[in-house]
Amino acid sequence: MKAQVVAAIGDRGRVPGSATPATERALKLLREGEIVALPTETVYGLAADALNPIAVAKIFEAKGRPRFDPLIVHLPEITWLEKVATIPAQDRQLVLQLANKFWPGPFTMVLPKHEIVPDLVTAGLNTVAVRVSAHPMFAEIVQAFEKPLAAPSANRFGRISPTTAQHVLDELGSRIPLVVDGGPAVHGIESTIVAIRGGKIDILRRGPITAEQLSAFGKIEVVATRDKISAPGQFRSHYAPKTPLQLIDDASTFSPKP
Ligand code: AMP
Ligand code: MG
Repeated sequence: MKAQVVAAIGDRGRVPGSATPATERALKLLREGEIVALPTETVYGLAADALNPIAVAKIFEAKGRPRFDPLIVHLPEITWLEKVATIPAQDRQLVLQLANKFWPGPFTMVLPKHEIVPDLVTAGLNTVAVRVSAHPMFAEIVQAFEKPLAAPSANRFGRISPTTAQHVLDELGSRIPLVVDGGPAVHGIESTIVAIRGGKIDILRRGPITAEQLSAFGKIEVVATRDKISAPGQFRSHYAPKTPLQLIDDASTFSPKP
């Protein structure tokens, strides 16, 4: 398989000689249970129908992602929240406040999972990570799809997350059918991940939504290390670049080795 890149900027992705906008091509593939790379405001995501385990399995395969690493579920609208998560009464007000404040946006909440979500998506955990993307292309596609999309970053497991369509092509070009080009990602880093439990906000992964912003909503704790890995940034090696690092004293006299 060889990925086709369709530009989605400006003319809604109309490619010369084709009347089909990028969004429609992506939708068609998603409806067929395929995976497609889509722009989000954080990094490019590799999306599939979150309620179709066979489609979701293709994400793990293309990324080389271990099955114990759960995926983020992107909702078409906030109204989907209580269809994929079963929110305990004591956390309900806090969760809805956070959703209303930070969605759509680079903010992911880990909540008790509803049985509608396949175990493969959550790596067998009884929680599900949910988010509503603010990217206009992604929002258009997931809303037209009318169902949640599982969409982790569109990189090979353990590598840096892609912030352009070209990055996705370089990493996954031979493994996926389509990359929708929405231009460079605005944030360029992954979403903030929090777990809401017992009326408290645990920050599992730092990101664009800061602890300061979250502290306005209640007691927060940064959960840096845990016995059990609960977010990917907790692996010993993660987001690892291939480029060697050199520390230098004087940039003006430095020339890199060929
Ligand atoms: P990515 O979208 O590639 O940045 O990856 C999504 C990350 O969200 C995963 O690697 C997870 O560790 C984290 N995540 C997804 N679901 C859960 C969950 N149920 N509990 C904790 N973290 C989660
Ligand atoms: Mg990732």
